[in-house]
Amino acid sequence: MERFPPAPLFLSHGAPTLAVEDCRVTRFWKSLPARWGDGIKGVVCVSAHWMTEGPMLAGGHPRPAIQHDFYGFPADLYRLSWPVSGSAELAGQVVSVLEDAGIAVEEDRDWSFDHGVWVPLRTLWPEPAFPILQLSICPRRDPAWHWALGRALAPLAQRGILLVGSGGITHNLGDVEWSAPEDVPAGWAAAFMQAVDAAIEQGESAPLLKPGSLPFGRRAVPTPDHYLPLLVVLGAAGRLRRIYSGWMLGTLALHAYSG
Ligand code: ZN
Repeated sequence: MERFPPAPLFLSHGAPTLAVEDCRVTRFWKSLPARWGDGIKGVVCVSAHWMTEGPMLAGGHPRPAIQHDFYGFPADLYRLSWPVSGSAELAGQVVSVLEDAGIAVEEDRDWSFDHGVWVPLRTLWPEPAFPILQLSICPRRDPAWHWALGRALAPLAQRGILLVGSGGITHNLGDVEWSAPEDVPAGWAAAFMQAVDAAIEQGESAPLLKPGSLPFGRRAVPTPDHYLPLLVVLGAAGRLRRIYSGWMLGTLALHAYSG
């Protein structure tokens, strides 16, 4: 059977409670590994929750720890662990492809994976059989820089390394609707996502690089952190297609896209 390299993937990680919930989006996450069979040799995850000045890479340590970097949630969430391994060899490959593109990256062997990494990826792989690394985002650098970061990582797919961006395309915590039923979005959030989806479907990167210029863009993306992982994945994939759409708390899109 012909094998295809794992296409870059964007996941919306939603709220930390998804780590223990059985709902439509977590069932979707659990369905994903079957796409790749045993074709994955490692994962590089770009999460919204690790923001640095210049790009940093974690996971060179053989046993990376995870951090429970959220507050006021049920106690069982803080007891979750994840038997994940890192790899100095894979870290070296990532450093090398980025250097080839003129991007200098520093390694942080002490960084513990944040919940943007482990809430979704632990659900996909409770006991991953391959190493997982994390790459930071750099909110002081512009959207085009993150797109170029993704493009620099593209060669990893040919080696069986899956790039995952973990964020949230609409992420305004001041506008969360706590009583909204699952999968029922606020009008403004839905309008913004329609514009994002239209640009993705038409293969137009330019509007995606300026989310503030899309309808309700400033409300949907008040800060760049949760949006930037999408641009890294877009840069790596060239073109994306939507593989999941859904909502939680009225304004948090749970959409997923694949190359
Ligand atoms: Zn988040």
